Amino acid sequence: MNESVFDPQAQIGNPDLKIIASLERLSEGFRVLLWEKAKVLGISPIQIQILIFIQFHGDEKCKVSTLAQEFCLTKPTVSEAVKSLEQKGLIERQTEITDTRSHTIHLTEAGKSVFAQTASFANPMLGSIAKIPSAEKGILLEQLLGVVSQLQDAGIIGAQRMCFNCAHYRSGQGSHRHFCQLLDAPLKLAELRVDCPEHEAVAG
Ligand code: SF4
Repeated sequence: MNESVFDPQAQIGNPDLKIIASLERLSEGFRVLLWEKAKVLGISPIQIQILIFIQFHGDEKCKVSTLAQEFCLTKPTVSEAVKSLEQKGLIERQTEITDTRSHTIHLTEAGKSVFAQTASFANPMLGSIAKIPSAEKGILLEQLLGVVSQLQDAGIIGAQRMCFNCAHYRSGQGSHRHFCQLLDAPLKLAELRVDCPEHEAVAG
């Protein structure tokens, strides 16, 4: 039988299992914090995530299809969440000039107000991360991005906008281990990006 990451006995001598189990605990913390906000405001966790995403991303990413990819959900599920947000007056859809069948989603003033109340829901996690020494934070970020990149390659999560899968990224040696051709500069470990506004997908 394959080992389970949730088996405490199997975890004892196996750091790989303990790392995965720890990530699962972090994901649980994220879920709890999101639910706390959702209960107070009377909207669902995914609706909160959509409001936050829309506020921080450009029109080209604020469509039902891209939101479905972003959150690894089906289009009907995202459509339902968007419809509910629209009925609550928190978002509005605008028809695209170039394609009248396509709509971009924008926050209304009421939506911006809910965004302001929810955007920091994950901040209670920042305190423990702040305690990690700077040099170790860079290493941690690099390793985590590597794991995320491999999850994307395996098709477990959707397309990411991070350095390791960007057309502008080059890997090298030593202090130039990571290089951004767009910025024309090496990237220190702590400068690697998770959600880069300049990210460009590698041509398939
Ligand atoms: S454009 Fe952004 S994601 Fe791409 S390599 Fe440069 S910093 Fe990283």
